[in-house]
Amino acid sequence: MDFELTSRQRDLVDRTRDYAVRVVRPAVARLEQLASAEEFPFDLMREGTALGLKALPLPPELGGIGADMVTQCLVAEELAAGDVSVAYFFRHYWRFARLVPRLPAPIRDLVVRGIAEDERFVPASAGTEPAAGSDNALPYDAPGHGAMLRARPDGGDWVLDGHKAMITNGPIASLYFVLARTDPAAGIRRGATMFAVPAATPGVATGPLYAKLGQRGSPQSDVWFTGCRVGGDHAMTAIGDGYAAAERGLIAANITNGAMCLGIARSAYEAALDWSLDRVQGGVPIHRHQLVAHDLGRMRILLDAARSFLLRAAWEYSHAPSFDPELSWGVRVYTAEVAIEVTQKALFLFGGRGIMAGCPAEKLARDALTMTHGNGTSALMTLRVGEHQAEQRLAGRQAAGQAALAAGS
Ligand SMILES: Cc1cc2nc3c(=O)[nH]c(=O)nc-3n(C[C@H](O)[C@H](O)[C@H](O)COP(=O)(O)OP(=O)(O)OC[C@H]3O[C@@H](n4cnc5c(N)ncnc54)[C@H](O)[C@@H]3O)c2cc1C
Repeated sequence: MDFELTSRQRDLVDRTRDYAVRVVRPAVARLEQLASAEEFPFDLMREGTALGLKALPLPPELGGIGADMVTQCLVAEELAAGDVSVAYFFRHYWRFARLVPRLPAPIRDLVVRGIAEDERFVPASAGTEPAAGSDNALPYDAPGHGAMLRARPDGGDWVLDGHKAMITNGPIASLYFVLARTDPAAGIRRGATMFAVPAATPGVATGPLYAKLGQRGSPQSDVWFTGCRVGGDHAMTAIGDGYAAAERGLIAANITNGAMCLGIARSAYEAALDWSLDRVQGGVPIHRHQLVAHDLGRMRILLDAARSFLLRAAWEYSHAPSFDPELSWGVRVYTAEVAIEVTQKALFLFGGRGIMAGCPAEKLARDALTMTHGNGTSALMTLRVGEHQAEQRLAGRQAAGQAALAAGS
């Protein structure tokens, strides 16, 4: 692959970085204090929206620039270097923009017009339930497990009943994409369908914002659907194909999550590097102490390795017919580990100040720790890589065995 950015990509990166540095970073304290849906800082997002960041992957005729995954990652990294919650806000639109060509016409219009015209149009993806987290992500494909929010057909409509948990944008969303069980006798791979449910539909209710360790400007809440009736054209996938659509969304989201990890880590590294030039102990700026230089070097090497892995995964996602989803799990796991190690090193280099509220490294270390949890845990993604490798090796052996048999007969 060619690592040279196009002039269009460089321009977009420059403009996004300027927005992140000038508008987002000074608002970090406000984002950190977000405690209710009413306080959500839509005003902060206006300049990013005007830059076209919501519509990025949409084709030009629908208001976007058809950005590939590399471009999405470049933008997500810049936003996350400002504040990871703002990166989450914009990235959420990309998950749905990607679905647009496959959406039923009324939902497609709602999404395209919402992105273009309405700053309060916010999508949310509702898969997790109180009893279905990793069972969705793995998935544990047995009847009665995974998402069990029920959707029943009723006179051409669908009626949804159930409870979703920890949904990003849950309290501010105007449109939910809900993974619902249409066939409880089947496992989740064939028994679930994805529905689009406007937040104003009678029967939708949201809980309070979760208070959390990091990414505090990105709101999560539970969402209840009680006797929630939507038209037949609100099924976004063929009946029974919901899981495949959800999985496709997660595979793409893992890669942009990797870019956010990189943004967090880069921000911590740069803060620590500057500090090491200014802070004097032992009669010299601390970067002159070998132990400190070693830490700075380690941080830089990790960042470079993570960036290479990320760009390869992003490039293959958009441009290589051989793209393997295993890359998306691996890159999410690795970049989150890098974010955790780099931010912890930054904490350490700031000395006692590192863990004090207001130190940039303190906030970034909290943000980094959250990155192994959403979209499925790092443990399960690592497990899937191992399983996938074993399956491929087994398939290779079987093919070789069959070829040997055929040659001998
Ligand atoms: C910040 C944030 C945002 C989120 N946003 C959304 C959202 O927008 N939409 C949405 O649907 N969900 C969302 N989630 C939920 C997220 O997808 C789940 O938290 C995640 O999938 C893990 O599920 P769980 O929390 O139920 O943990 P559990 O599944 O209960 O896992 C608990 C522990 O057991 C381990 N474990 C579980 N099963 C296995 C197994 N088979 N083998 C080995 N180990 C196992 C896990 O790795 C973990 O360590 C969000 C979560 C967070 C933290």
